Amino acid sequence: MRKIDTTRFRVATRRTSREINRTIVLNLVRARQPLSRADLARAMGVRRGAVSLIVNDLLKDGAIVEGATGDAVRGRKPTFLYIDTRRRAVVAIDIRVSQTSLMLADLLGKPIGGIVTLPTERDPKALVKSLAGRIKRLLGDHGEIDEFTGIGVAVPGMVERPSMRVLHAPTLGWHDVDLRAMLARATGLNVEIENSGRVCAVGQLWAMHAGDGPAGDFVFVSASDGLGVGVSFQREVLRGRHNLAGEFGHLLLSMDGPKCSCGSNGCWEAYVSNRATLARYFGHEPDAAPAGDFTIDDLLARARGGDLKARAAVQATGKYLGVGLAVIVNALDPSAVYVGGEITGAWDLIEPPLRAAFLERALTPAVATTPIRPVATIEHPRLRGAAALVTAPAFAAPVVA
Ligand SMILES: [Zn+2]
Repeated sequence: MRKIDTTRFRVATRRTSREINRTIVLNLVRARQPLSRADLARAMGVRRGAVSLIVNDLLKDGAIVEGATGDAVRGRKPTFLYIDTRRRAVVAIDIRVSQTSLMLADLLGKPIGGIVTLPTERDPKALVKSLAGRIKRLLGDHGEIDEFTGIGVAVPGMVERPSMRVLHAPTLGWHDVDLRAMLARATGLNVEIENSGRVCAVGQLWAMHAGDGPAGDFVFVSASDGLGVGVSFQREVLRGRHNLAGEFGHLLLSMDGPKCSCGSNGCWEAYVSNRATLARYFGHEPDAAPAGDFTIDDLLARARGGDLKARAAVQATGKYLGVGLAVIVNALDPSAVYVGGEITGAWDLIEPPLRAAFLERALTPAVATTPIRPVATIEHPRLRGAAALVTAPAFAAPVVA
């Protein structure tokens, strides 16, 4: 049951139903393309004429295009409709302490070309300068694209809305950085910025289709240099009053636990981030300087190669992931939990201790059955989500009351 806010609403007009039906058509085309006007009329349970009015509107605006003609047993051959992804693209950026990645994507989020990586300069000005240079080169390499509709950026920190200022990114040491304005000025493009955990939730939400089950309520946990968490509730990513909702990375597991990047002790992040896993292996604090060029992937390789200390360090991360997930699942009761990050490359090693810790703490037998699914790094959930920051609003449900 949703209550109408009597201080913030839009009275429904004839335009309202048109706007809603237009978004429904756009989403049906996106999810099921190619499909014809007759397919749409059937899916929506309305007359063909009503669908044609909406379709013609969307064709006129350039949101969809007509493509190939299909076969018909009798009568007129249907013309298929598609989302217009030609010659338009977005730039997705994932900023992490260890490196920054860039990718071009079409309006459906499909990657165009490969992924470019560069070192993450800690000085935001220097980082923006090198990012702008890379973006310029990337755009120059893709002359077939006429329009770049914007840049979506995932950052490992807290982002204010609606200004999108990066208030605090502990692992980068950033405080109140107006990255959006700097990047927009340097590139001339519209820029959208969001916290990396929430970015993953946005990407997951928009990558899901009707056949994926009860997909509206889920939690996405992204374990990398730090730990980001995003929560989707009833097909909407939770933001909260100060855009902090879902910041479970700093959930307290133990008051005497290891030092966290946020300055406190014993946060969940300080047990399960890549830095924490490496620190456990090397026997130092997670906030200490990383051990040379040794990465989490090197550690996973050692764990697989029979290094028992490496295996124990990785499996302990699995256990602590399970402990934290139990707290979140007991509190939010989502339909599913997704786990992203390099550690998923060793899912066969971490899954048994993760599930054991989760089952031990799940409050009811029903909640214990909550699916926990790894998202492979090859799916690039952060870049996919960064692209969705720019592309998804065109498909989002209109807010009316
Ligand atoms: Zn913390």
